[in-house]
Amino acid sequence: MSARHLHGRAFIRGAIQDDTLVTLSDGAITDVVQTTDVPADATRTAALIVPGFIDCHVHGGDGADFMDADDSANARVLSFHARCGTTALAATTLSASRPDLHAAVDAVVRATFAGRRGAEVCAIHLEGPYINVERSGAQDVASIRPPDIQEIAALIVEAPRLQWLMTIAPELPGARALIEHFKGRITFSIGHTAADYGDAVAALEWGASHFTHLFNAMSGLHHREPGVVGAALVSTDATAELIADGIHVHPAVLRIAARAMPTRVALVTDAMRACGLPDGTYKLYGYDVTVAEGAARLANGTLAGSVLTMSGAVRNMVELAGMPIESVLPLATEVPARILGVADRKGKLEPGYDADVVLLNEKLGIDRVFARGEELMPA
Ligand SMILES: [Zn+2]
Repeated sequence: MSARHLHGRAFIRGAIQDDTLVTLSDGAITDVVQTTDVPADATRTAALIVPGFIDCHVHGGDGADFMDADDSANARVLSFHARCGTTALAATTLSASRPDLHAAVDAVVRATFAGRRGAEVCAIHLEGPYINVERSGAQDVASIRPPDIQEIAALIVEAPRLQWLMTIAPELPGARALIEHFKGRITFSIGHTAADYGDAVAALEWGASHFTHLFNAMSGLHHREPGVVGAALVSTDATAELIADGIHVHPAVLRIAARAMPTRVALVTDAMRACGLPDGTYKLYGYDVTVAEGAARLANGTLAGSVLTMSGAVRNMVELAGMPIESVLPLATEVPARILGVADRKGKLEPGYDADVVLLNEKLGIDRVFARGEELMPA
């Protein structure tokens, strides 16, 4: 495959650098240099050249969901989010019956071998079923059950080469044993939880290292009861997801989190199947979800995932939360690459890294996307 050259402003080592020549060849970034000596065949762009986005928490989009456990549905999700700038992701499941979870995992594993089109599946994120029914959000309450080491052991053998994340409520009986048993193999994320501050700090000591959609489905920060949110903010190394759609979390609180945890926040979409489609009523596992005015809700008003894309999350952090783009881009690239264990090959524009590259226009929309070197039509 012949090399492709992109020349323009690029996000390199935490700063925006003019006159940068980025060379892609055979699915990898082969060179990144600052130069005004531009090859004749280079694409000169006025857009900002940034690493592809990485989403640790995404259920679906374009009418499809990883819980559909269907090859064409998974191809649809991976294509759609890639065309929105997400070049790598954690395929995220919901609380579901044992057979349905197995079927979903099997289908995700098939998708990782099916070809190289669209976003790369780097991990599986099990969001449930070991969560607190009191903070279940839009999860299927009937599928929530106590932690079971055998069940998880049987799941992870199906995808030995993928990273695993698991959202868990640490206050459940058996949660500690599960975390201590699988830590190192599974990244445990505190979420959908009625835990207090002390419970959350204890879970970090057992081996949890991440927080699922910080602020949502957990206790908030009170000055006399710091809550799960307080445990995340005060931690030195745990990471936390933020749904930056401007609905799940107030823009001022998005800004507080990004400033308090500048190298520990991962922007996520938590996108469900309606993402990219018109308003209407859609399925989320067992439930009907209605999408209107940018929010996806159950009939009782509970938020049920989002219709956010990663480029939308980046734009909202700049335009709603008022953060500088240089501070926001790592939250969509380097931080999630670290969480998903792919920081040695994704999340930065550096020689040797995967050719996952996004060109952002001045409105922070997607101009062009390259996923492992292959150019995709923007969604
Ligand atoms: Zn979710």
